[in-house]
Formats: sequence, C-alpha cells, structure tokens
Amino acid sequence: MRLVLVGPPGAGKGTQAQFIASNLSIPKISTGDIFRANVSGGTELGKLAKEYMDRGDLVPDEVTIAMVRDRLSEDDAQEGFLLDGFPRNVPQAEILKKMLAEFGVALDIVLELVVDEDEVVRRLAGRRTCSQCGRIWHVDFDDKKDDICDACGGSLYQRDDDKEETVRRRLEVYQEQTAPLVSYYAEEELLVGVDAAGPVEEVTRRAMEALAPHAD
Ligand SMILES: [Zn+2]
Repeated sequence: MRLVLVGPPGAGKGTQAQFIASNLSIPKISTGDIFRANVSGGTELGKLAKEYMDRGDLVPDEVTIAMVRDRLSEDDAQEGFLLDGFPRNVPQAEILKKMLAEFGVALDIVLELVVDEDEVVRRLAGRRTCSQCGRIWHVDFDDKKDDICDACGGSLYQRDDDKEETVRRRLEVYQEQTAPLVSYYAEEELLVGVDAAGPVEEVTRRAMEALAPHAD
C-alpha cells in the first residue's frame, strides 16, 4: 500500500505513522528522517541541504523533492510506503503524483488524522516537563496536581511550545497550509479521515479499519 498520512500538530501523527507502517509491513518515510540520513550520510543532496540550514534558510522544494525521489527508489519502498511530512502543499502533491507515475505506480490512499482543535490544545497545553529528568507529565491524564516530578522530585514547567497561544498559532498555520492539500486529495478521491481522539491503540485500530478496504 502506498499512503500519505496528514494530521495537525498534537494529533500523534509520528506515533501513528510508526504503528500503521509496521502493521502494514511498509517503510515509514518521514522528511525529517530523510533529511537526517542525507546529511549524516554526506550525500550531495545532504551537503546542499546543510548549506541552506547552516545559513538558517529553508531547504528549497527541489532539494526535498530530490531526496524523496531517491528514498522512494530504494528497494524497501517498491511494495509500498507511508509518507509522513510530504507532500506539504498542492504543488508538492502534484509533483509526487508525476513522480509515482514515472515509477508506474500511484497513491492508494491519503489518511487524515482528524482532531478537534480544543482537544489538541487540551492535550498539548496540559503537558508539564520535568526540569531535572525531562520526563513529561500531563495535568489531566496523569492527574497532576502539584508541579513536582513523581519520578525524580524535580520541578515541572510548561515548555514554550506547549503554551496554549503557541499551540493555537501552530494549528492555524497548519490549517492554512494543509486545508488546500486535503481538498486536493478529496477531489482525487484518495482522502479518508480517521478520528484521532482517544488512546493511541484505539486510533491505530480505527486507522487499520479505514485502510482495510484499500489493501490489495
Ligand atoms: Zn523528573
């Protein structure tokens, strides 16, 4: 199965990507992993990407696309893959479509993790990090009443990334960038939404159910 996973920050996308890929016995291909592999492997593309990153610039689309193409050409991706973090926008989706057509294949499905915005805010803004051991607690899920780490006695704090205002802003940016991509895939009749609220295993189970009719 060839699939793309999309979902907002706080939807547990990274975790689901791993579980779904492993259930389907296909490689999970995330842009973050591809970047790191190219940079640490010292490939030409990696060197190029690093030049941009060292300058604090965004890595241009064509470099990212070339890395994705290389990765999708590898042996383990021939029977299927799960893409996480690519495509990010409609132009990239069109390029991916062309690229796969050149390989003689096509996407089977685009799985969207759907979450309620307030639920994401509750999930992320409730996180407290231990200043000593780095462990993360949750005010609701761990029923954390004090600001003390139960593991090491260190004091807990809220990371800037987890502040409600920051979370809301990231969600807005995501909606702006991804809404057109989601509509594009809906028009291509590839989009399937899965409710991403609730325990991790439950969401994976729902995702596998949604994918079942599309398996070969
Ligand atoms: Zn601690």
